[in-house]
Amino acid sequence: MSEILIAGAGIGGLCAAIALGGRSSNRNHSITIAEKSSKISEVGAGIQLGPNATRILIRWGLEAELKELAYEPDQLHVKSALSGVELASMRLGANFKEQYGAPYLTLHRADLHSLLYSHVIKHEIAEITLGHELEYFEETKEGVNVNFCENSEPTQKLSIGQNKQIGYDALIGADGVWSRVRYILNHALTKTAPIQKASPQLLANVEFSGDLAYRSLISQKSLPSQLRLDSVRVWLGPHMHLVQYPVRGGEWLNSVLFVDSRKIQNHSHYSLSKSNLLSWDVPLDQNQLRFFFQDILQKCCSELRDSILALGSWRAWPIMTSEPLVTHLQMAQGSVALLGDAAHPMLPYLAQGAGMAIEDANALGIQYKINPNLGANINLNQYSKSRWQRNAMVQKRALLNQKVFHADRALAVARNISLKLLGEKLLKMPWLYGHIQM
Ligand SMILES: Cc1cc2nc3c(=O)[nH]c(=O)nc-3n(C[C@H](O)[C@H](O)[C@H](O)COP(=O)(O)OP(=O)(O)OC[C@H]3O[C@@H](n4cnc5c(N)ncnc54)[C@H](O)[C@@H]3O)c2cc1C
Repeated sequence: MSEILIAGAGIGGLCAAIALGGRSSNRNHSITIAEKSSKISEVGAGIQLGPNATRILIRWGLEAELKELAYEPDQLHVKSALSGVELASMRLGANFKEQYGAPYLTLHRADLHSLLYSHVIKHEIAEITLGHELEYFEETKEGVNVNFCENSEPTQKLSIGQNKQIGYDALIGADGVWSRVRYILNHALTKTAPIQKASPQLLANVEFSGDLAYRSLISQKSLPSQLRLDSVRVWLGPHMHLVQYPVRGGEWLNSVLFVDSRKIQNHSHYSLSKSNLLSWDVPLDQNQLRFFFQDILQKCCSELRDSILALGSWRAWPIMTSEPLVTHLQMAQGSVALLGDAAHPMLPYLAQGAGMAIEDANALGIQYKINPNLGANINLNQYSKSRWQRNAMVQKRALLNQKVFHADRALAVARNISLKLLGEKLLKMPWLYGHIQM
């Protein structure tokens, strides 16, 4: 029986276990998920899932749970933050289901996470060991030896003294944007500086994009009726955009205001050095909100201004990015593969980070079915070859969207004219939502 280790119990790690796991009766491997946090908790924000991702979740048998927890919006509207005019719209709901064979859904992240977590536990797909931080790994002839650091507190510092080393046949790094597994794997690829065993993940190959996300989640009942939403709404303005959609069966409204901190007034004092980015998640009160959003509130239309001010509590979050993948070797080497944000951090401007983690997991499951001897080079090699170009394409499109969404002056005028003329044709992306890997 082969032993597989997944580092990270986020959306990507849990999906990897489900894709590899199947039902316990016909399994010839054991899966362990090592999670560095000592308790399972997901941040309170929303997530959109296109049919490219929901199709996979439904195939895994999660349709009933999705129906219970998710919201299916009927429309997506794009509006000008300055004038309030609608620039374009796209039919979602039945139209999307008909075209792509699966729904476009919006969810609370914690709901998606707990749905996946419960599925893993209920079907005994994997053992989840909390408080286990992967610190280091080394490939061996048989597979991979992994060093862990046991953390009793999520914030506890790494200490080599508490190390324990365990051998596995394969390692899947699903350890998120600051991936330790990616850092070690990249090091093997470039053979540059010596690996610092206990260093924090600061050397991971990601950087601050310059954009901050201000997130708010509020009960729709607490909003005046004209500010409640039953669709996805995107507001585009100079150096900012706001995305809003209902979650939790439509009862809550999720809003994320993305701001280019280099261009929007009153943001220059944010000192976002690499060392404070790791733990950055800052609550804002109404006074701070008015100060930080002064520039935006002055310029935007009254409908948007009312909406921002009515939302109450916001949390600020730095948006990380990385260069798009250039080779499959960045996603797997030998007995080690990467998945989700660990493999390809991306801007959330195509709403596909979790979607790509789900697609990665599905591709891993497919390779496993072809040859269950996971850990043999050929399998992880095939997995990375089947995924890296699609992920790179999505990373590139998200980078382009940053420029388009945050355009100012002439570029903004050109964007608005294109949206008005082409509307749904521009927004409907069959290459993205129609992707099927069987
Ligand atoms: C503002 C915003 C909006 C977004 N909106 C969308 C959207 O609408 N649609 C969408 O598809 N995506 C969206 N995303 C992206 C999406 O949230 C992420 O891409 C997705 O959650 C990544 O999942 P993951 O499992 O790869 O990483 P994570 O969720 O980061 O999970 C990684 C896990 O690994 C653990 N870990 C870390 N290091 C170690 C270690 N050394 N050892 C063991 N465990 C470790 C962590 O504690 C964590 O539990 C958005 C992102 C942001 C910031």
